[in-house]
Amino acid sequence: MDYQNTLAFATQLDEQDSLKGFRDKFLIPQHNGHDAIYLCGNSLGLQPASAQQYITAQLNAWQQLGVEGWFNGDDPWIAYHKQLSGTLSAIVGAKEDEVTAMNSLTVNLHLLMVSFYKSKDKRYKIIMEGGAFPSDQYALESQVKFHGHDPKDAIIEIFPRNSEDTLRTEDILEIINSNADELALVLFSGINYYTGQFFDIAAITKAAHQAGAIAGFDLAHAAGNVPVKLHNWNVDFACWCSYKYMNSGPGGISGIFVHEKHFDDKTLNRFAGWWGYRQDKRFLMAPGFQAAKGADGWQVSTPPIMLMALHKASLDIFEQAGGIEVLRVKSELLTGYFEFVLNEINNNFGKAIFRIITPKNKQDRGCQLSIVCSEKAREIFDYLTVNGVIGDWREPNVIRLSPVPLYNSFKDVFVAGSILTSAVKEIGL
Ligand SMILES: *Cc1c(COP(=O)(O)O)cnc(C)c1O
Repeated sequence: MDYQNTLAFATQLDEQDSLKGFRDKFLIPQHNGHDAIYLCGNSLGLQPASAQQYITAQLNAWQQLGVEGWFNGDDPWIAYHKQLSGTLSAIVGAKEDEVTAMNSLTVNLHLLMVSFYKSKDKRYKIIMEGGAFPSDQYALESQVKFHGHDPKDAIIEIFPRNSEDTLRTEDILEIINSNADELALVLFSGINYYTGQFFDIAAITKAAHQAGAIAGFDLAHAAGNVPVKLHNWNVDFACWCSYKYMNSGPGGISGIFVHEKHFDDKTLNRFAGWWGYRQDKRFLMAPGFQAAKGADGWQVSTPPIMLMALHKASLDIFEQAGGIEVLRVKSELLTGYFEFVLNEINNNFGKAIFRIITPKNKQDRGCQLSIVCSEKAREIFDYLTVNGVIGDWREPNVIRLSPVPLYNSFKDVFVAGSILTSAVKEIGL
């Protein structure tokens, strides 16, 4: 598309946008009496306007039914998580029984590694991307120590080549191949939180399997942002959070995926709890754990119904929008427009003030653009904040901005660009 950096053009794209009505389904934070330009869905997605109603329904059920809410009422809590799995499985490209909503993300990463990090003899190493989200680094370090290994030896991190910002798939595959003898697990994010790079999950999974290893993914920045096909790509396991692109509230419930080929594997370790027990026999309270079939068998504790209700409020909006593939079409156009607007600023000033480190190729990124400022980065970021553009800051000089197709408009992107232009002028770059 031939983009133009004008308000008229942005307004025209908004008028043609079949998803434009969805913005009204969200509560947009206010800045000086107007909608803020909220470009921070990579960190915390916005509140669905329906969220209160979904929570209130469960508070009412609790009020009216007390403990009987587990089995009675409109949405018995015992099966509430099943209402999520249809939409959730479609978002991550899984079969319904391959996903379940439970716990929070880092907790789930640990629980899944209990099952799928099977360090044995010579095969104990893990390959991950360098500069992974810190929680994942800490989780993996502590897991390898738990298995009696030294993280410096057992964890192989892959970094970009000199003077490059993102990883080349060929390099990832080559490092997997060359460590095949000692490799237990390849654990990557779906999209790197810092650069916004969307990894080739299918290729990484295939290479991991050829090397005799397991392939797991942390989809915190991918779930609800880009379509993935976990089942068809033969991914072994994955987990994600719901509070970023899935708009399910701060600390919202996480989700897991376990490929069905592992359902009947009795050799897998699990840290079990009663909620993972087969549901038909759970309340017999008998000794001896018997796992529920599918991803449900990894549940541990009584589910937090209020968090599930928030998740459902948001997932129902994904459903109404026609699913992740529909959102992705707008997302590519919207982020493409943002990239154009940023490049226009550089062109207008005749120098590279903003350098986008997120891949140029739209297949290799989601909606986020990570922008390195040539100088005075923190001042630019603060200028954005004061002027109602909400993004996020990562040391030492990166601003992450993410136009989200469900609630951001082309006008948001245009206005963010104009405010960046004013920032460059007023700060004097
Ligand atoms: C956001 C994020 C987390 C956060 O984990 P919590 O357990 O929800 O705090 C972990 N890993 C990645 C890759 C993330 O992007």
